[in-house]
Amino acid sequence: MTIYNLGSINIDHIYRLDHLPRPGETLGALDYRLGLGGKGANQSVAAARAGSKVVHLGAMSDADNWVIEVLEGAGVATSGIARMAQTPTGHAIIMVEDGGENSIVLHGGANRALDPEQLAANLSEIGAGDILLMQNETSLQVMAATQAHATGARVVYSAAPFSIDALRAVLPYISVIALNELEAQELFAALGSDLPVDGLLITRGAEGAEYRDLRSGTTHEQAAFKVKAADTTGAGDCFAGWFAAGLDRGEDIPTALRHASAAAALQVTRQGAGNAMPERAEVMQFLG
Ligand code: ATP
Repeated sequence: MTIYNLGSINIDHIYRLDHLPRPGETLGALDYRLGLGGKGANQSVAAARAGSKVVHLGAMSDADNWVIEVLEGAGVATSGIARMAQTPTGHAIIMVEDGGENSIVLHGGANRALDPEQLAANLSEIGAGDILLMQNETSLQVMAATQAHATGARVVYSAAPFSIDALRAVLPYISVIALNELEAQELFAALGSDLPVDGLLITRGAEGAEYRDLRSGTTHEQAAFKVKAADTTGAGDCFAGWFAAGLDRGEDIPTALRHASAAAALQVTRQGAGNAMPERAEVMQFLG
């Protein structure tokens, strides 16, 4: 059916520097790259490339039209993205010291300024069989989850950046929580492992992933595919987007896990985040 993804859209400004700037210092960058990021946009691109119909719900500036072109080019419907005149698109200033540390300045911008009435209208056609995908980088998650859940749609919550308060607030409406191992530890420490959801998707980087079906008590393990990683940024988003697409396409859990794991393995061999999400045909070829 359709994946509605309430998600962040960030413009990443990436500067390579020979050291991080000191207070008061003006420093020339060695290199500059511009990219589309944000967990929301990354997961929309991943799920669309996996073959699902994806409607992105979010907000950004009425400038930055290239962002819309990139999303549309990946097959993501952008009609649910509000365009704002006065509020900037969310963005990150990413300073990368050659061979060393990173510093990041993040401004949520339009991601944190969603309009409830517009969002409710954009979700008015969601229903049983559809999926609402969310992360924790926008406002209005509780409202969207409540509305989607009331129609019988499944809510998949990618719990990052992790906040136990944000998770608690959406917990009654969620079917699946997707999170990495560290986030899972925080979740279990706060709430225990007996949670009122259908399942937990836990990723463990190069160690693989597992899905715990909390209804049946079954755990499905998926090893990571062995590849030479070049840049693991967005691997979790790739996995979550592909897994949500697997659920949407009616795949069984082992198949959805295997496809997501192969997609994430391909993704980490490439530089970048959203732009590095593989196409379905590439994943099928990789799996042989
Ligand atoms: P990020 O924050 O970088 O997006 P994350 O912490 O949310 O990542 P991870 O658990 O690191 O997510 O990775 C998600 C999935 O990506 C893993 O379960 C695995 O399938 C795949 N993956 C990550 N790193 C590697 C690797 N080095 N080799 C193969 N697969 C990998």
